[in-house]
Amino acid sequence: MTKPSGTILDGAKRRGRRPEAQDGPSTPFLPFTRPTIDEETIQGVAEVLRSGWLASGPNVKKLEAALSEYFGGRPVRTQMHATASLEHALLVAGIGPGHEVITPAMSFVATANVIVRVGARPVFVDVGLDSRNIDFDRVEAAITPRTRAIMPVHFAGLPVDMERLYAIAGRHRLRVIEDAAQAIGSCWRGRRIGSFGDLVCFSFHPNKNLTTIEGGCIVGGSPQELSQLELHRFHGQSKLAADEVDTLFAAGKANLSDVAARVGLGQLASLERFNARRRELAARYFSLWGHDAPVRLPARGDEGHNWHMFAPLLPLERLRISRLQFIEQMAERGIGVGVHYASAIHLFTAYRALGYREGQFPNAERIGRETVTLPLFPAMELSDVDRVVEATTDVLKGAAK
Ligand SMILES: *Cc1c(COP(=O)(O)O)cnc(C)c1O
Repeated sequence: MTKPSGTILDGAKRRGRRPEAQDGPSTPFLPFTRPTIDEETIQGVAEVLRSGWLASGPNVKKLEAALSEYFGGRPVRTQMHATASLEHALLVAGIGPGHEVITPAMSFVATANVIVRVGARPVFVDVGLDSRNIDFDRVEAAITPRTRAIMPVHFAGLPVDMERLYAIAGRHRLRVIEDAAQAIGSCWRGRRIGSFGDLVCFSFHPNKNLTTIEGGCIVGGSPQELSQLELHRFHGQSKLAADEVDTLFAAGKANLSDVAARVGLGQLASLERFNARRRELAARYFSLWGHDAPVRLPARGDEGHNWHMFAPLLPLERLRISRLQFIEQMAERGIGVGVHYASAIHLFTAYRALGYREGQFPNAERIGRETVTLPLFPAMELSDVDRVVEATTDVLKGAAK
């Protein structure tokens, strides 16, 4: 499966610097994202490696307890990645064959794939052009007698309107599985995403605001759902005694390792600082570009935005170059540009096979064509933003029709 980090620039990122960078060879290549792992965490990981207990153990318990505290005391269960978290959340919510789940047409493809994997049908709804979030004005029209759940995405960490989401879900008796993969630390009207709501899933992929290398978690769930989640992540097995187990159903395996959990504990201690830095960097983009930006800026949100990504749209109809050429010209200037995501989900082969067609969700389709992700990660300097803004403006000026 293609990971969200997969772009043509990964090679450049690995090389670390580009000899052809205009600022000269001494300016390091600026990737669009990079995790920050401190020395204390690296030491902690070394200790776990020496301890002899590498798979799920005391550190997973500690991470789940720390996350639970972070989310206001709600229960937390970790998984090997958020793709598993989302799939397990659907399963314990009883979503399966014959059911429909409403979800945005623009997201990372995992959001829709998990719906298909449990046997249900994803019913796409268009997103706001600037918010990238599901358009609640169109959600109720998509509800049918087969609808069982809504799976919204807090895209780039901008929370959806939680009041409208849960009002619609309540009116139609639907479960909500929040794809909060990008939203750790985001707040809606001062309340942390995950600290309220139904089943809320976070990702700890290296591109996300908090990483465990690979990892994810589900916040929420009844006591019965929590024991189901534990079965889903470990072979459907329940241990009855030291020498006695039962297997209740044929589940797979998706438990987090203790090494990964130790990385997460180190990250969680820095999360608020990381996110504060991301907000400063995003504010710098907005202040430098003001009202006459050469790109279409994303919705700004408020102080509750965790700025997982800074992804404006390119004015392609006014340019002589393609998005790929823009990415290449930025790389020549030593700047990494990502694409999240290069296509609306319904246009992928797997979803056209379900009957979806071009033209159904114009905003999602346009975002897929025009979006670019500019550098934003906690280790960046404000001057790096200046450099990105200057290079972007320069490339676009040179490419104007
Ligand atoms: C990253 C991401 C996922 C998948 O997370 P993994 O931990 O890589 O499985 C799902 N949905 C969205 C919106 C994401 O950004």
